[in-house]
Amino acid sequence: MLDTVSVRADFPILAREENGKRLVYLDNAATSQKPRKVLDAIQHYYHFHNANVHRGAYTLAVEATEAYEAGRTAVAGFVNAWAREAVVFTRGTTESINLVASSWGRTNVQPGDRVVVTAMDHHSNIVPWQILCQEKGATLRMVEITEDGRIDLSDFGRALESKPKIVAFPYVSNSLGTVNPVAQLTRLAHAAGAVAVVDGAQAAPHLRVDVQAIDCDFFAFSGHKMLAPMGSGALIAKPALLEAMPPYHGGGEMIERVWDDHATWNKIPHKFEGGTPNVEAAVGLGAAIAYLEQLGMDRVAEHESALARVAIERLTQIESVTIYGPRDHRAGVVPFTYGDIHPHDLATILDRDGVCIRAGHHCTQPLMRRLGVAATARASFYIYNDVDDIDALVSALRKAGELFGVPA
Ligand code: PLP
Repeated sequence: MLDTVSVRADFPILAREENGKRLVYLDNAATSQKPRKVLDAIQHYYHFHNANVHRGAYTLAVEATEAYEAGRTAVAGFVNAWAREAVVFTRGTTESINLVASSWGRTNVQPGDRVVVTAMDHHSNIVPWQILCQEKGATLRMVEITEDGRIDLSDFGRALESKPKIVAFPYVSNSLGTVNPVAQLTRLAHAAGAVAVVDGAQAAPHLRVDVQAIDCDFFAFSGHKMLAPMGSGALIAKPALLEAMPPYHGGGEMIERVWDDHATWNKIPHKFEGGTPNVEAAVGLGAAIAYLEQLGMDRVAEHESALARVAIERLTQIESVTIYGPRDHRAGVVPFTYGDIHPHDLATILDRDGVCIRAGHHCTQPLMRRLGVAATARASFYIYNDVDDIDALVSALRKAGELFGVPA
């Protein structure tokens, strides 16, 4: 396990109290808290180096560009990208997937084509494909999940028989905690002639990602879920695909030459980064990656799966609790319901004890329909959580059970 006492000391927000209680932050799948090193890196950038990036002829602008591009180098190393040019900065997973749907999708998907997603995908890995399919007259096929919350590989195989153009799936489910066999899914997608799009939003913060080993074509993630600022993230893509794709946004910086009636494009990845970029996001993301690498991603993953095991064991002891998702191959995400207490009521009551959990459909409505529930409560762990946090969760839940007269 990680030394959570020293990790917690790095996160100023964790020193605050909630209703007179220690803050127990268990909503990390939604967003993570930020360590002082990230906050300091952003402040340092604004204090000493801020200017608009690229094309600057003065020292400050060169320094700002270096800081921005250092963030790209850090991301490339973190996910073992094919090259620095394979990293396109975006606002996060949602924008990254929309970029692929708009650029690669619009160019390559024709009427009658198929796009495959899974029933455990987040809306941001479903809705962009729905929009694309509606525009192009293509069909979206959703692969079913098994009883124990995994991608149904038989149904995945059947979906591939129609030779889809795109197959998209999550590395880790934000609503079940399932860790999917992404290299295997990618191999199968390629054998069917499709490109593979991996939603890495719940993977990059929590486990060691190697996009070359997965061999996926596109990998999307969000920085704010991994210690970095809101509005940070990237799309990682095979450089040859990026070279062949048309731009996503038109504007400054993404061009090579602009004539009265047409323009030519900048080199990758700048072709996809029109306008003034979020430099602070790249700086913060670089600092977040340095922090995570210092802890070691294998230790981060071990720490969180150990916490998930303890949480599942303790929650199972509460009579009316139902836990969703598989028992193994899971990340530090524990979704549950408690008798007939509405998850929103549960989250509100837990807040009185300083325990922050999320309640709702978690942007996975198709999955909720398959689980037969409108909503679940979800505790999700990160590097600063420990067994004391699980104890706080369990004792706050027992209090809620007493309040609602649900067997505890
Ligand atoms: N995909 C998954 C699996 C997620 O959990 C999330 C966010 O919760 C997203 C995509 C969307 O991420 P963002 O809102 O940062 O773009």
